[in-house]
Amino acid sequence: MNSITPPKVAVLGTGGTIAGSGANNTQYAGYRPAVTPVDELLLAIPALRNVASLESEQVAQVASQNLGGATLLHLARRVNHWLNETDCTGVVVTVGTNTLEETAYFLNLVVKSRKTVVVTGAMRPSTSLSADGPMNLYRSVVAAASPLTAGLGVMVVMNDQIIAARDVHKMDTMTLDSFRAPVFGILGWVVDSHVRLYKTPARTHTLDTVFNTTDMTTMPRVDIVVGHQDDTGVAVSALVDAGAKGLVVAGAGTASLSDAMAEAVQGATRRGVVVVRAPRAATGIVMRNMEFDDSAHGTVAGDTLSPAKARVLLALSLAHGMQTEAVQAAFDRY
Ligand code: ASP
Repeated sequence: MNSITPPKVAVLGTGGTIAGSGANNTQYAGYRPAVTPVDELLLAIPALRNVASLESEQVAQVASQNLGGATLLHLARRVNHWLNETDCTGVVVTVGTNTLEETAYFLNLVVKSRKTVVVTGAMRPSTSLSADGPMNLYRSVVAAASPLTAGLGVMVVMNDQIIAARDVHKMDTMTLDSFRAPVFGILGWVVDSHVRLYKTPARTHTLDTVFNTTDMTTMPRVDIVVGHQDDTGVAVSALVDAGAKGLVVAGAGTASLSDAMAEAVQGATRRGVVVVRAPRAATGIVMRNMEFDDSAHGTVAGDTLSPAKARVLLALSLAHGMQTEAVQAAFDRY
């Protein structure tokens, strides 16, 4: 009798609402995130045994607003470790949804494999009526076990949709369809136990990036400043004084800056701090020298990355010794 070996998928837990617990099944306000261990989340979904042979590892147990640089670097090492196992087909990472976007994009830049990595989470705690975590986790393992998803970079599976890490936005603080790709569209769907794909990401990712975090234990300090009409630029100067190596300035519209902010930014770039302009608007492109003279101020145009994702790319670029011109090239490529 022939027996077919199921694909092996490693599920790495980091906490968040998918591992959250409320006092009752209608509680949202006041539930506790990052409580249930990842192996218990898997045990609660017996149907997963039909999809893959599962391994699990608790990499962290935090709300994702606390998932800082050191934990991200540790997570990258563990993801790369599992992908290096020859019999491992793919990895699923469970995270809190608050900062899911930047964790997925970070992994998209530093995973060194063509094997599939899926990031997922949940909008409702596991104790909720209609909790979305179990189905998101099931669909994610289906995607990670499928040969169709290999080589497409890190992807997010939420609410039945497959979205490229670079394209995903958290659009809503509460709703189940919060994760969308408003500008570039989704890659496809997981329908029951089937993957349906419709396109491939165009930007460079995973094996083809220059980023290697194997020996990194900390990330350079990069802060985000949000621009507004009465901006004085004081926050920029204070952050530079506090030791920021890079700044992302989320400016209005096409990331235009007030005169006072522009002056403070120029002061920062003269002190060797790399400053990236990213849109305060929810979506859109920030082109070089569009409504702001990047060449004169020594700044970088952030292309279509949100401030949170721009922060990740800037920190990685600085960690790899890049200066302004090379950072601009990174934003044009990744
Ligand atoms: N507080 C949670 C987090 O860890 C929220 C969530 O997962 O939806 O991001």
